[in-house]
Amino acid sequence: LVSGYERPPSMSSPDDPGGTHVFPRMIRDQLPRAVKGDGVYIIDADGKRYLDGSGGAAVSCLGHSDTDVIRAIQDQAENLAFAHTGFFTSQPAENLADHLIGKAPDGIDWVYFMSGGSEAIEAALKMARQYFLEIGETARTRFIARHQSYHGNTLGALSIGGNALRRKPFEPFLIEASHIAPCYAYRHRRDGESEEEYGLRAADELEAEIQRLGPNTVAAFIAETVGGATAGVLPPVEGYFKRIREICDRHGVLLILDEVMSGMGRTGTTFACEQDGIAPDIVCVAKGLGGGYQPIGAALVSAKLFQAFRDGSGFFQHGHTYMGHPTACAAALAVQRKIETEDLLANVRRQGDLLDTLLHGRLGNHANIGDIRGRGLFRGIELVADRTSKEPLDLSLKVHARIKAHAMDRGLICYPGGGGADGVRGDHVLLAPPFIIEEAQTRDLVEILGNSIDAALAGAC
Ligand code: PLP
Repeated sequence: LVSGYERPPSMSSPDDPGGTHVFPRMIRDQLPRAVKGDGVYIIDADGKRYLDGSGGAAVSCLGHSDTDVIRAIQDQAENLAFAHTGFFTSQPAENLADHLIGKAPDGIDWVYFMSGGSEAIEAALKMARQYFLEIGETARTRFIARHQSYHGNTLGALSIGGNALRRKPFEPFLIEASHIAPCYAYRHRRDGESEEEYGLRAADELEAEIQRLGPNTVAAFIAETVGGATAGVLPPVEGYFKRIREICDRHGVLLILDEVMSGMGRTGTTFACEQDGIAPDIVCVAKGLGGGYQPIGAALVSAKLFQAFRDGSGFFQHGHTYMGHPTACAAALAVQRKIETEDLLANVRRQGDLLDTLLHGRLGNHANIGDIRGRGLFRGIELVADRTSKEPLDLSLKVHARIKAHAMDRGLICYPGGGGADGVRGDHVLLAPPFIIEEAQTRDLVEILGNSIDAALAGAC
């Protein structure tokens, strides 16, 4: 034992059922123990049921008990759980790549499998850098990303990320990256400016930053297609990404889209960028790819990039032990096939519209709700102290944390966060329920969330 350290009483011994040796995310929180999944519900050790209104963190797109996915995992594990990708390819990886490329944006032809979102982003960053080495544009070392973004917690992903709170302790380790403003119409659109005018102005910040850095020093611009957990779902306005694509093309800068959260059907189309009418050079996916049944992520890559590697050094200087894991690929393939065969994206759009309508009905006139936004089953609610000035709530009230606690008490999992308005202040709730959610459950979600928000504000103000 470190001198002076005592285990808290509830963690006194590993033999004590209340005790633990698991180093948790939040040291002081006492969490219920999840023991079973049942459709859109998670059940804890006391038998309490929680409606999963956020799929954890936008992960569980098929809920928690899909028997086809479970069988696919069992079958694969019985045949071959793992074979190192330095020695073998595998059928599940081949089949999953075929499936993904069949639905991928124009020009995307190759899949580099990883085990999660941060790994997919790290791979994309290195791939962009090595691509420019392969084609002899060696001065292109810089990345431009956006404030109020999140791309993962590994050092490369954190460096390009724009989540001020998550970056702060590790600033000395981070590689240099530029950040422009996000596309955040609620806070950044000027009075009298149309959404489209605003979108072009926001995108033109990229042009200015490329010029400032020197166009031939910039490797890539990276953005979440629909902003996720940092500011509470930021859908781009019409025309924003078309202008971004034009700017990237003009300067030979790669466009990397992070669809770790917003991709794989979450917004109602397989790739979120389909709705923006553009195709990236690399698109990263994870969470909804395996739906939480197995850990898996991927960077999907254009034929143009791949060709440079094939015609150049012949390898990508990267890799992880568990990349292309056969059991994870088999699970993800089963998840994706289920979404296709059951036409679950139609349900995402239907329930997404209903969720939006119900949220506006329950919270649209609420004195502390500033904005309700999103696409498909990916919705964000931003709270404010004052609707006219859009002044965020007092930081010390910790309203987002209170909402989470009240929702859990009432049997609802939602994903509240803070710091979205300006990097420090701002409270929001992110919703991302499973694609299998039914109308009655969507109604329950909104009812419990509304009550939890009311209770949190009553306790705080
Ligand atoms: N990118 C986005 C947009 C995310 O939301 C996340 C996780 O929340 C990541 C990357 C990192 O993914 P992971 O937590 O699987 O490493």
